[in-house]
Amino acid sequence: MVLLLRLVVPRPRRRARAVVSRTFDRDRIAIGRRRSFAAVCAAVVLVCADDRAEAASCPRPEALGVSRTLPIEIGANGLFVGTKSYPTTLPLQDHEIVLTFDDGPAGRTTDAVLAALAAECVKATFFVVGDMAAAHPDQLRRMAAAGHTIGHHSMTHTIMTTASFEKGRADVVRGWETVDRILTGATGERPTTPFFRYPGFAATKPLDAFLVDRRVGVFGADFWGSDWNKSTPEALLALTMSRIEARGRGILLLHDTHDHTAAMTPKLLAALKAGGWRIVHLTPASGPR
Ligand SMILES: [Zn+2]
Repeated sequence: MVLLLRLVVPRPRRRARAVVSRTFDRDRIAIGRRRSFAAVCAAVVLVCADDRAEAASCPRPEALGVSRTLPIEIGANGLFVGTKSYPTTLPLQDHEIVLTFDDGPAGRTTDAVLAALAAECVKATFFVVGDMAAAHPDQLRRMAAAGHTIGHHSMTHTIMTTASFEKGRADVVRGWETVDRILTGATGERPTTPFFRYPGFAATKPLDAFLVDRRVGVFGADFWGSDWNKSTPEALLALTMSRIEARGRGILLLHDTHDHTAAMTPKLLAALKAGGWRIVHLTPASGPR
């Protein structure tokens, strides 16, 4: 099946494809490009299919859009990325940005963020809280149906360093199971999208080991807007852009739960477009489990 698909799909333009793995002791990091022929074929097909879908679904050629999809495979050694917390990050090129939003879905403010992203045909990764998803299940479904990637951020936004391992693990699992039940009607050993971000980036070694065991990747960030602080959209935009420009590439963390973030998002996308920045959309390489 994979071989057949590879033969009928035109050879894509050369793209960076992430197969990122990381040893659990965080000392040795390996970023490999090819794990197996089958994995490469599967990823090539996924990239081609995604690009065609994105091109077809954006009626505005002037929109910021998504420049490429980056399928992420979680290897046996797990994945820990984002230089605010870890020694390495995603294999992004200069001026490539990954947009991430945490803590939703939150109703009105999330709707405003989704509308801004849709207006520019941009896809983001939302690290959602299980309790919020349970409170806004239709909004979560719309978010997923719009093509955004749905990562996980625990059930109750527990700061894991303040909880026992058992309590923390239960909160993590309940979060992804709640989301999967809403989106797919089923749950499994792994979440459908095996992407997790610790609330407050408060990682613990036992939970890290658990996430490696379940092959769930851990995403930090490379910069953020500090939008948990009171701000105006204009001040938040200036701060966020200054941090993006200082690093030149990376994973941006924002929160779709704040009015000032929702109001800033269209301005941010306009600034990124004007500055020649490119949006990279993360997806799980292996697709649904
Ligand atoms: Zn959070």
